[in-house]
Formats: sequence, structure tokens, C-alpha cells
Amino acid sequence: MSAQSSRTSGKPRAAQQPVRLPQGIASVLSVLSSSAVVLDSEDHVLRASTAARTYGLVKGDRLVVSELLALARQVRRDGEIREGEVEVPVPRFGGRTTSFAVRVAPLSGGVGGGGLVLVLAEDQTESRRVEEVRRDFVANVSHELKTPVGALALLAETIEDAADDAEAVRRFAGRMRQEAARLTFLVQDLITLNRIQAAEPIPDPQTVDVDTVVAEALDRTRMKAQARGITLASVGVRGLSVFGEGDLLATALRNLLENAVVYSPERTRVVVCVKKPGDGGVEISVADQGIGIPERDLERIFERFYRVDPARSRATGGTGLGLAIVKHAAAAHGGRVTVRSVEGAGSTFTMWLPLRGDRA
Ligand code: ADP
Repeated sequence: MSAQSSRTSGKPRAAQQPVRLPQGIASVLSVLSSSAVVLDSEDHVLRASTAARTYGLVKGDRLVVSELLALARQVRRDGEIREGEVEVPVPRFGGRTTSFAVRVAPLSGGVGGGGLVLVLAEDQTESRRVEEVRRDFVANVSHELKTPVGALALLAETIEDAADDAEAVRRFAGRMRQEAARLTFLVQDLITLNRIQAAEPIPDPQTVDVDTVVAEALDRTRMKAQARGITLASVGVRGLSVFGEGDLLATALRNLLENAVVYSPERTRVVVCVKKPGDGGVEISVADQGIGIPERDLERIFERFYRVDPARSRATGGTGLGLAIVKHAAAAHGGRVTVRSVEGAGSTFTMWLPLRGDRA
């Protein structure tokens, strides 16, 4: 398609010399994902990318955002590249204002006429959202780290003051060990989460035996359950396998089991059940008879650091990252996690994972 044929103006400008885009520019513009517009010397749109039209920056052969047009004219006058930010009401988003990062540059070498100007505009909504999530996360991590570090500093001071009292020193040293363990868990969870978020899907997947995953997760939870008199049981289909990382899946399942144990009254029962629902996947569920989760919190519990009852979570040594790890681990395996819960009666978390192809 020639540059000329892409003109959208309904009005031919017969008296004028046809203006064509410099060679190669048209093909470069066609692969750009941002909104790109080329204006001729009289502010007519010579070419506009689909994005520029979808965002409503261009109508017919006109650039309709006056700020952009003003920038383009300045650039045409002095040949200087300009950058900036422009707020534009986007019809597609119900007229909501969207922020665009813009770059306007002169295009030299136009055939049949100079004065061509290129306008590039990038929607910043997504990058702003990502930046906001990142900032929140850093703030949360700093806050979470401050608590045990502050406690450690305080305990060290207390030990210094109680240096002559061997019994007190022993007691406070034990508390220091607990806080250090809390820090270690937090850092471990952060590393796990960072790894699975950065490397979706699993980099070197292997065949994973579901029975082994269940057995390992149960093993790693057994002591905590025994300490609270909670019975752990495992039922369901055996001999299934998935494709992925066994360690990560065992960590995810252990997170669900530990939660089931710590958010349940003593002497209750926690059951792991493996099912093959016939949709090409395997369901691994963990059901408890615990405190349950209020309906309004169900959507948010998979967010990093979201806790229904922050004091209770901290008291039980929770990092607030357990379910985020489960969610990302399931997603990295092409699966998902869901939850059903009745306050005061119990919760069931279910991980669905695709079965390994040759055994599905
Ligand atoms: P935490 O370290 O706080 O347990 P998680 O990400 O594992 O962090 O869980 C987030 C929150 O979801 C918990 O603080 C708790 O309020 C709630 N929750 C998770 N599992 C259960 C469960 N089995 N029963 C009741 N509440 C739960």
C-alpha cells in the first residue's frame, strides 16, 4: 500500500503536489504499537496508526488534540524534537482522561514537500498502574521488615540491661530467635514469589507425581498440626502426574495446609483431597473446619500482604504472602486456585492444575 493511498481525507487537494512519506518510514510506523501520526506541512494527517484512531487522537485527516497540534507546529517551525505529557479525554473509555507520553519530531526527506512532523503518543495507564503496584509493594515490604527488625533491636537492648539475670537473658534470646525466624520466613517467601513472578511459566518443567507433592506437603506440616492436635488426612485419586516444578507445588500445598492448621480450632480435621474432574486437570483441595473467611475478603486474600485479621496472622507467624505464592505457583503451571468458605464453619481451597499430557 502506498503512503498516498492511506490518506483518509475525503477532500482531494488537487492543486497541490502529492506528498509521500520518506521510504521506509511507512513500514516502521506500521509496526509501532503506540499511536503514531504523520502530519504534512499544512497539518493534514498523512498517516495515522490504528491506535491513534482508536484513541480518538485523529479524526478524518485531522489531529484533533489541540495541544498535540500546537507541539507539532512548534516542531515544524524550529526543527527541535519535543517531549511531554498530554491528558486526552478518550471516547473509547467513556471520555475518561488518559495520560499520554508524547514525542514530536520533524521528519526530513519527505518527497514532494517538507514540513512533515511525526507525533508519537504512548498511553501511560498500564505503566502507571504497574508503577503504583510496585511502590505499594516496596512500602509493604519495608513495613513488614521493620516490625521484626525493631523487635530485634529492642530485645538486644533488653538483654544488655538484664546481663546479670541469666534466666531473663535466656528468655529474651529465645524471643530474638523467633523474630529472626520470622525475618527468614519473610525473606524466603519474597524470594519464592519473586522467582515465580519473574519466570512464568516454569523454566525447566519436569513430570511431577501428585502423590509425592501431597506426601511432602503433609510431612512439612505434620509438626505444626500435631502441636495443635489437628488430624491431617489425605484421600482421593492416586497415580496422577502434572508437568512443572514439584518443589514449588509442594510449597504451595504446604502453604494451604499450614493456613488450614493455624486458622482452625484445636482438635479439628484437615483433609487433602485429589480429584480428576475429567476436564484435563487435577484438583487438589485442602478443607478445614476452621474460622472461615468473610465473604467480603474472599476476593482479596490472594493479594500480597492482605490479611483478614493482621494481628492473628502475625501471632501465628504468617508472612501474608502464602496465598500469593499459591496463586502464582498455580498460574505458572497453567492452573488456578479457588476458595469456598463459610465463616465459623471452615474453608476449602482448591488448586486446579493441567494433567501431564500423556496421562490426561
Ligand atoms: P498469612 O501469612 O497471613 O496466613 P496468607 O497469604 O497465607 O497469609 O493468607 C492471607 C489471609 O487469608 C490470612 O491472613 C487469613 O486471614 C486468610 N486465610 C488464609 N487461609 C485461611 C484459612 N484456611 N482459614 C481462614 N482464613 C484463612
